Amino acid sequence: MTDNKAFLYSAQAPSAEQKQRFISFLKKKYGEETELEWISDQSLENGFKLIVGSEEYDWSKEGLYDQFVRSFSKEKFSGKELIPLIKGALQDWEVKALPAERGTVVTVGDGIARISGLENAEYGEILVFDCGLRGMVLDLAETTVGCVIFGDDEEILAGSSVRRTNGTASVPIGEGYLGRVVDSLGTPIDGKGEIKAEAYRPIENKAPGIVDRQSVNHPLETGILSIDSMFPIGRGQRELIIGDRQTGKTAIAIDAIINQQGKDCICIYVAIGQKASSVAQLAENLRKHGAMEYTIIVAANASDADPLQYIAPYSGCAMAEYFMEKGKDVLIIYDDLSKHAVAYRSISLLLDRSPGREAYPGDVFYLHSRLLERSARLSDEKGGGSITALPIVETQDNDVSAYIPTNIISITDGQIYLESNLFFSGQRPAVNVGLSVSRVGGDAQTKAMKKAVGTLRLDLAQFREMEVFTQFSSDLDDATKNQLTYGQGLMKMLVQPQYKPYSLHQQVIILLSSLAHSMQNIEMDDVYRFNQELLAGFEREHASICDSIDSNGIFTEEEKDTIVKYAKDFAEKFYV
Ligand code: ATP
Ligand code: MG
Repeated sequence: MTDNKAFLYSAQAPSAEQKQRFISFLKKKYGEETELEWISDQSLENGFKLIVGSEEYDWSKEGLYDQFVRSFSKEKFSGKELIPLIKGALQDWEVKALPAERGTVVTVGDGIARISGLENAEYGEILVFDCGLRGMVLDLAETTVGCVIFGDDEEILAGSSVRRTNGTASVPIGEGYLGRVVDSLGTPIDGKGEIKAEAYRPIENKAPGIVDRQSVNHPLETGILSIDSMFPIGRGQRELIIGDRQTGKTAIAIDAIINQQGKDCICIYVAIGQKASSVAQLAENLRKHGAMEYTIIVAANASDADPLQYIAPYSGCAMAEYFMEKGKDVLIIYDDLSKHAVAYRSISLLLDRSPGREAYPGDVFYLHSRLLERSARLSDEKGGGSITALPIVETQDNDVSAYIPTNIISITDGQIYLESNLFFSGQRPAVNVGLSVSRVGGDAQTKAMKKAVGTLRLDLAQFREMEVFTQFSSDLDDATKNQLTYGQGLMKMLVQPQYKPYSLHQQVIILLSSLAHSMQNIEMDDVYRFNQELLAGFEREHASICDSIDSNGIFTEEEKDTIVKYAKDFAEKFYV
């Protein structure tokens, strides 16, 4: 459809002969007589633009450059043959009279634009507005497409034109990104200058297939005793951290990052819908603990547009995939997916999708499943890299049966459930041992840890039962009292301050000592101090045992006896 009218934009008016050539070109292309109107545009210098209906032939300097780049990037090339390839592409390149689709903004507002005229636009495609802003197609209607805008929509006017890019959203990535804070589009926001990109990766990517994966059997230690001992996480696993607000969810994730120091694991922290100041504080804390060197922070803050919050986790995951495919281990944290779901809900409602349960759209399950499916441990043929995901979900009033929490619980391989009652009573990290689980991590635990943990979970379960049972009785026999103190001691043993991850041998020593009832006569308030001093003493006197546990992941029966004996002697002398 040409509407029998075409517009020619150029700096100088075309001669009669030039005009005739355009008209015959249009006749050949569209099979009908077209009237040509010339519009002066000094910015085009020697080039021109021809606009016919919703199609645009862009022969301006920029347009030709774009065309060249596009023809070039279609080629598949490996790094080795780059130079001959560039030469070849330069020689063979010919300018073509290819129409580009041009759309017109019909309505714009609330971060959403409806655009007509882009008949061939695809779902997820990036569009460029007149003012330079970018957007992503998220809705395909009969005559228009709905596009979310990455930025402030006030710069876009109804009636302005929109260009297709024929590409989906992608983010730049490379080694230079380590230690930096970037937004969802990979642009640095920490004021430390530009970052050199080594590659661009699409933010949406298919998860690795079953053949390309191998089972999760390598531990990813968080350094948090309650997690590593009872809910171990393996490389390639997805473990949910769930709990009410202010229960130490972020703290667990940050400790896990800090504990990766020297373990050849890259960390990516995706902040969604948080205050910019909290993210800055968090980056500072990581830096202070030397963890920023191997970490990338992807931040879509609460003040950013919903679409940026929506793509943030996918961008982070694309960056993680870059490293995973290079054979590296990656730990990625999504903090948090409740806010992500809320951002997606706003977008969907504005795009007129029908609301379902809790007003979320029908595809909110797919929103998170396709993200978390991308975590994997690749087979050795594929380089053996991995992505371990720790998504975080915030609950309201401990309600894990709300829509988003149940969805994500069913997608992940287990959850660490944090409880505000425990948190406020001083039991921090506030892990609820009864309701937390790790479904695949057991295979990934080191032999030393498996042996040291022994009956811890069982003992704690018995303690909880007994605690409820004896709540109202004042008159208890000695055996019961002993058992209660033992249980309380175990709970105290799990208390661990922030930024103080334990190494493997420290966890093993604390577990062996506590499970051998060495703390029987230690006051509850002294348990933490007792363990610290015990560790310091043992490390001083038996450094070789500590080293051997850390490097081999096992301990012998004799070593165990040495540890238990040392702990018991130490407890006896503790108060004298
Ligand atoms: P939000 O819902 O606001 O995101 P959150 O669940 O992520 O909160 P954090 O911010 O991690 O919780 O922690 C809340 C507070 O508890 C912080 O001030 C933190 O320093 C403190 N905290 C977290 N873990 C511990 C711990 N193990 N020991 C002592 N204090 C802790
Ligand atoms: Mg938090």
